[in-house]
Amino acid sequence: PEPMHTHTLSGLNPRQQEAVTGLGKQLVLAGPGSGKTRVITEKILHLIRDAHARPDEVLALTFSEKAAREMQARIDRAGDLTAGCTVQTFHSFCFALLKDHPLESGLNLRNGLISRTNQIVWGQRTIDAFGFEAIEVGNNAAGVIESVMDGISSLRNELIAPVDLEAYLGTRPDDDLEACRLGDLLSVYRAYEAYKRDERLIDFDDMIHEAVALLERHPIVRDRLRAQYPYILVDEFQDTNYAQLALVKSLCNGHLCVVGDDDQTIYRFRGAYFGNVKDFTETYPDRSLTVLNQNYRNSGTILALAGELIDHTPDRPAKHLRTGNPAGEPVVVAECETEAAEAVYVADEIRRLLETTFSPRQEGAPRRYRCSDIAVLCRQRAQGQKVYRQLVNDGIPAEFVGEMEAFRFPAARDLIAALRVVDDPLNAGIPINRLLRRAGVSELTVQQINREARASADPETDTDGVYEVLLRHSDDDPAVREVADRLARFIEMKATLPVPDLVYTLMMESGGLYYAAIRGGAARERRVLDWLYRLATEYADLTREPTIADFLVYLDQVGELSVEMDEAPVEDAVRIMTIHQSKGTEFPVVFLLDLSEGRFPVRHRAKAFTVPRDLARSMVPEEDERELSLQEERRLCYVAMTRAEERLYLTRAVMYGQRKTAAKPSLFLTELDYQKNPLVRLVTVPAPQTVADGVVVGDQEQARQRLQQEAIRAVAEMRLSTAVQRLADLEKCRLLAAGADPGSFDPASFFSVPA
Ligand code: ATP
Ligand code: MG
Repeated sequence: PEPMHTHTLSGLNPRQQEAVTGLGKQLVLAGPGSGKTRVITEKILHLIRDAHARPDEVLALTFSEKAAREMQARIDRAGDLTAGCTVQTFHSFCFALLKDHPLESGLNLRNGLISRTNQIVWGQRTIDAFGFEAIEVGNNAAGVIESVMDGISSLRNELIAPVDLEAYLGTRPDDDLEACRLGDLLSVYRAYEAYKRDERLIDFDDMIHEAVALLERHPIVRDRLRAQYPYILVDEFQDTNYAQLALVKSLCNGHLCVVGDDDQTIYRFRGAYFGNVKDFTETYPDRSLTVLNQNYRNSGTILALAGELIDHTPDRPAKHLRTGNPAGEPVVVAECETEAAEAVYVADEIRRLLETTFSPRQEGAPRRYRCSDIAVLCRQRAQGQKVYRQLVNDGIPAEFVGEMEAFRFPAARDLIAALRVVDDPLNAGIPINRLLRRAGVSELTVQQINREARASADPETDTDGVYEVLLRHSDDDPAVREVADRLARFIEMKATLPVPDLVYTLMMESGGLYYAAIRGGAARERRVLDWLYRLATEYADLTREPTIADFLVYLDQVGELSVEMDEAPVEDAVRIMTIHQSKGTEFPVVFLLDLSEGRFPVRHRAKAFTVPRDLARSMVPEEDERELSLQEERRLCYVAMTRAEERLYLTRAVMYGQRKTAAKPSLFLTELDYQKNPLVRLVTVPAPQTVADGVVVGDQEQARQRLQQEAIRAVAEMRLSTAVQRLADLEKCRLLAAGADPGSFDPASFFSVPA
């Protein structure tokens, strides 16, 4: 082979090379860490370098933005050579396609995008009208709306239109309960479609459907695309849904390489399904199949333990995934007495890892972990919160990936305060106070303004008077004047500026916001502001007559939902994320939380609506929903475990909540026989001893040391109130150790300077 050729393929094993150099229709199936994603990127390089494909002839489709970004970064390392090849998510590819073909798609650039959040908001505003108390989902209002929208989404992911559903229902007997419920769903489905048509909106599912429909209706466009992309590659094939598969099949006219792992299907409830591979094989009987079985990611121990878990899947063919990596450390299972103990254990262990120098994995220099080498994974978002708080408290840099704490950020609260004032200046005492304080106006002045307002308020006119008093006072103090002038200007702009522009101006000109965005934590604050701006544009797209008042209501609704913010991690921080978000990634150290019954696997909740089997287009396996759901949970656990390269910790609490309800170990721990498994090191962590107000764990001495460290760190970082608290806690510890009552602690004498 030419030298360049060998260069491209160096370091790949023979099967990977086969997959990289192969042409035609290719299916690559392989377990985690076996280099599937690597095959895709190497293949792109190979196609361009050695097979003389032009970069713009290559189309790589991924599942998430994050995966697309990562793949693009890997390819970019090859330099200019690959510039111009298309690496996109299914959604962004389709969105661009629709935008480029306004005539054929019947959609134009005015079409706004309706996100998942907006869908739910629409649901909140609309679904009541359909009398859905009929649904017994044992759920709150928000849950009902989500299940209705999920029901619609799963129909659409199977490309089932309202007319299809109607025709199906026509064949059902009148007393079919399921059919009645689907009838209710059909009416919402129709209303939703009509709403989108009237308001010229499309949602995430539409992007794929409309693109598929466009290619079907306009063979010219389809053939042009087919000619443009002779090389198509798809990562994470196992989570591709019916509509996405239809798109790929429609685009493909040349070479198509898809890679996936059936053991990692984790989006079944999003319309993804097991039968993809079968469908692919039936469509392309001449496809080649490559199975990779060499794992490069995990330690021998981690891979073996994860394998033991997934082997519990019924009817699963045996797979022989091996690794040349050393066995490494045993997997730690930490049984913590309470959730607080679990959080403290994880934080302490992370600190220990960060402070220790370890001998190298293979040959090489001794190594130390950085924060970004460590991930904390949880089954559900809320479970990560306790560890996040603990890490922040301990001064360990941590980032909650996709965290929707946006509204807690000062920048967001300042913006909302300013919007409240602009919306209704005469009744905005509280937000005005906030803005004054943030602008550095003294508490004395703030109180004075409020006192005066209370004195002058006229109960007849229903205003709190603060804004008028503010204007009167603006000559006394330059800071007050600045706030007053700015607010007056914003209020004036309200009449002429559209909502998103007003939001933008507020962001740019508000002293507090600007201050927040350019100072510490800048990256996150910036992202919060970007996100809020995007919400404003989305809101304006969604609404016929956008107003500030209505936008504030909209923000409230958004705030109640757990929405994800787009993510672009920057700092060196411990990453806390859900297992779903961790898909495709790898970290030297992984903590997986809450392996207790009821938490993980999460309790099965029957879906309110399922696509009737006769109507489903994809090949849905004939199985009980509860069993399927359990298998999905097990795959999730498998995905989580196989993210870890060197060290894996599985943690759980023995008792949960204030009332200390005992929880059994997770089914998955039991399946792993964790108490006797030679691959596992079991540790038990006692509950924090609350000898003082601070969180204190373990025995007295440990508690003392922990408090001392925290106090010293707090002083070093100028977090003085924390420092004072920790010193006080230390003193209480001392009292306790001396046999005295910690309640007798007297701050006044403790902090007084001896004469
Ligand atoms: P997942 O199923 O979790 O997405 P994957 O099969 O896509 O995993 P990759 O992420 O492509 O696996 O590869 C896992 C790790 O192994 C990466 O760090 C990759 O660089 C490395 N790797 C892959 N192939 C080789 C190889 N031939 N030699 C050395 N390292 C490799
Ligand atoms: Mg991968």
